[in-house]
Parts: sequence; C-alpha cells; structure tokens
Amino acid sequence: MFKKDYYEILGVPRNATKEEIKAAYRRLALQYHPDRNKSPDAEEKFKEISEAYAVLSDDEKRRQYDLYGHAGIEGRYSWEDIFGRADFEDVFRDLGFGLGSIFDLFFGGRGRAEGPRRGRDIRYDLEITLEEAARGVEKELKIPVYETCHNCGGSGAKPGTRPRPCPECNGSGQVRYEGSRGFMRFVRVETCGRCGGSGELIDFPCSICGGSGKARRTRRVVVNIPRGVDTGYGLRMAGMGEPGESGAPPGDLLIFLSIKPHEIFERNGDDLLCEVRIGFSEAALGAEIEVPTIDGPAKLRIPPGTQTGTVFRLKGKGMPKLDGLGRGDELVRVVVQTPTKLTPRQRELLSQFAKEGEQIGVRYIPRAR
Ligand SMILES: [Zn+2]
Ligand SMILES: [Zn+2]
Repeated sequence: MFKKDYYEILGVPRNATKEEIKAAYRRLALQYHPDRNKSPDAEEKFKEISEAYAVLSDDEKRRQYDLYGHAGIEGRYSWEDIFGRADFEDVFRDLGFGLGSIFDLFFGGRGRAEGPRRGRDIRYDLEITLEEAARGVEKELKIPVYETCHNCGGSGAKPGTRPRPCPECNGSGQVRYEGSRGFMRFVRVETCGRCGGSGELIDFPCSICGGSGKARRTRRVVVNIPRGVDTGYGLRMAGMGEPGESGAPPGDLLIFLSIKPHEIFERNGDDLLCEVRIGFSEAALGAEIEVPTIDGPAKLRIPPGTQTGTVFRLKGKGMPKLDGLGRGDELVRVVVQTPTKLTPRQRELLSQFAKEGEQIGVRYIPRAR
C-alpha cells in the first residue's frame, strides 16, 4: 500500500526543527482530533498525523525514516514502540484532550481481537560492491525464517495436550494500565509479562520447538538488484517474511542495501570521483593517459600545461541513473607528481631545463576568497 510522506502529512519541510514539527502537529490535531471533529474522515486523518508526529518527533526514528523511508520504520519498530515513546502528553495537555483517545484509536480493538496476526517482516542488510551497483546484480540470500512447528502444529504444546488461556490477561496477551494525572486520563497497553503476549500458558511444551511453536529454517531468496542503487535503497519483497499465525498473511522481506567503500572511486550521487597521478613532463607537454572507470580502463587526454588539481569530466562514465535514463559522469582530478629519484642523465636534463627559466611568475599565491 502506498503511504504518504510523513513530512508532507504534517506540511513541514524536511529540515524542520523539532519545534516546527510539534507546532504543525498541534495545529492539525486541533483540527482532526476525534473529540472535536466528527466527520468520518477525521479519525483516519488523525491517525495519519499522529503516526507522522510520533516518528518525526523522535531523533532516532526520524533518522531511520530519512535514510530508508517507511521501510526504515516498519522494519524496525512496532506500533507500541512508535506510540509508546512519543511525547503526545505535552501537546494534548495544552489542547485539553485526553491521551486515552490516541491509544484507543491505535490499540483499542486492534491486534488479537481482530483475528490472527500477520507474520512479521524480516529485515536483511545486504552490502554490495560499487561495481555490482553499477551493473545491477542478482543475489541469492539465505534468510532465516521461523515457520510453524510441524510437531505441534504451532501451538507449542506437546501433541495431545493444549495450552490454556493466561489468567493474568484473560487470554488477550495485553494488560491495560489506566491512570490519571490531574484532569488527564491516560491508558497504557503493555504486553502481558506472564504469557509474553501470546495469551496462553503451556504446561507441557512441545519437545521439538520447546514451546515456541516455531521452527527455524533457512530460505533461499533470489533478488535482482537494479543498476544505479545507492546506500539507503530499500527493497520490499511482499510475502517473503515470517508466516502469519494460523492462516494470516505472511510478513514482508525488507532488504536494506549499502555499498562497500571503493578503493578508487568516491560516489557523489550519480557521479564518480577519482584522483590520478601524472608526471610533471606529462603535465607540461600534454599526454594521453589511461584512467580507471567503473567499466574498465579508458583514455584521457591531458592538455599541455595542466596544473595539479585540474578536474576532467568523463561524460557518461559515472553510475547509471536508477530511473534508467542515462548515467552520471566521472570526474578525474589530476595530481602532478614531482620525481624523487633522478638518474644522472635526468638530473643533467633538468638542470638545463632550469637554466632556461622556470616561468613561475609571482611566487606567492593570492588567498582564495
Ligand atoms: Zn497473559
Ligand atoms: Zn512444536
């Protein structure tokens, strides 16, 4: 499902400060909070802005979102992580709303009551080389997945026995804490500590899976990495995550790509930068030299009188663009190398060269402004 950008939802720029984010959320919450706005779309809208605020108001989650987009949040955090830690209290106290409503919206009736839970997403970090990113690559990944244990059918109980409902949470897996602070009511929902959120207690665990109901297996997945990807690129493979509970749909496989640092090239968007050495006679007289490119060696013409630091642009020799339209450039910066070991003959020739005059001109270099 397509999800809108969190910054767009709150109507703030990507470099917005925490204060600006809070102010934007406060303004929108006032408009869409279900206590005030009874229109049917308001609740959805309120959920949307609250989710965006919960993520962007938290430094670490915001960083993950900036790097990986929604995949960076969904692959890492549960709803409880996202909403349990965000600072809603502060905003709502000023607006005079109770905190309860936000948790009711997100957790009330959600989860177990709705039926079997969807399988969890699996996060997989994949590092590839710059060459692989330039050409595109097919990778076979070995993904550890936990599947339903065949011995107990996933119940975790020894065949012939059955788990019993947890008396602590009455089988819901969650415990609600209600409290109040001043005029404000708050509700916190936590995972039941007795049953670990499963809602069940197992008296006789299955001997194969030890009561977890899951068995570990390695699944081989082949992914095609498109050309032009960069660090931070994410791939979502729907349905390749962990299986859902009793027939519920499986989760997704989220692949987070990063590119290994390259020995020669530095990447800047679609451009590649590198440095090459040239001899000082090549610099003075001009030369055709061989330079590395991501496709292999290429020729570069050095014009006579080239200075150290000169940058040459090789058009279309950079990284392919992700949209398939063209390529970036390669930028080659030359460094003129002064010879350190001279043969007697070279020394002789250079002395003669020096006698002709070095043509330095004014010796000081004006400070760059
Ligand atoms: Zn329990
Ligand atoms: Zn089992």
